[in-house]
Amino acid sequence: SLGQNVIVIVPGANLLLNFEDLKRASDVICKAKVVVCQLEINPAVSLEALKMARASGVKTLFNPAPALADLDPQFYTYSDIFCCNETEAEILTGIPVGNLEDAEKVGHMLSKRGCKLVIVTLGAEGCMMMSGDEPIPKHVPAGKVRAVDTTGAGDSFVGALAFYLAYYPKLSVEEMIRKSNCVASVSVQAPGTQSSYPYRKDLPQDLF
Ligand code: ADP
Repeated sequence: SLGQNVIVIVPGANLLLNFEDLKRASDVICKAKVVVCQLEINPAVSLEALKMARASGVKTLFNPAPALADLDPQFYTYSDIFCCNETEAEILTGIPVGNLEDAEKVGHMLSKRGCKLVIVTLGAEGCMMMSGDEPIPKHVPAGKVRAVDTTGAGDSFVGALAFYLAYYPKLSVEEMIRKSNCVASVSVQAPGTQSSYPYRKDLPQDLF
């Protein structure tokens, strides 16, 4: 199945992460530039991490993966950036996402639930962003590439976005998203989620 991903998750160690661990890490969390959470650890623990970050003015970036139909609504209000893919968007809103227009509907719905910024990633189409303050959808396209293996593209996107939020906070969010699309589009061009980006001199260097 060329270009389609198949994922096996072995959640053992992740599910052992608990509130005690969070407390022990509170110093790191509260001094961070950005905290990224998703749902591969206990959701209640992830939510608490977002709350700790928010209480210290640390930016919160949340990726609801793997998607949960009954996500605690506090995840929306405690996420500065709420970044989901098409499948997650559908599970959370009931709106099947097949194009930009559908993603815009998701953006409106999640903004109303309290997200400051909603991003819906759209695979080869890049993504849709919408700010809660000014709910005007914006399409940020990805470059055309030959996708070999899209496994981890979403993680690559979220990781890149966290990088720009932490190290280039003065960039506009749109610019951060454009660059994150570019990083994620590199990750789909080789098997696995390739991370050799900074070392590949043949790739555009304006990402840094
Ligand atoms: P997920 O991996 O969670 O299913 P997506 O498929 O939406 O997420 O991909 C996340 C991001 O990866 C996209 O927003 C885009 O930047 C990049 N991407 C994914 N597939 C492609 C592709 N075929 N061509 C270019 N970029 C891609």
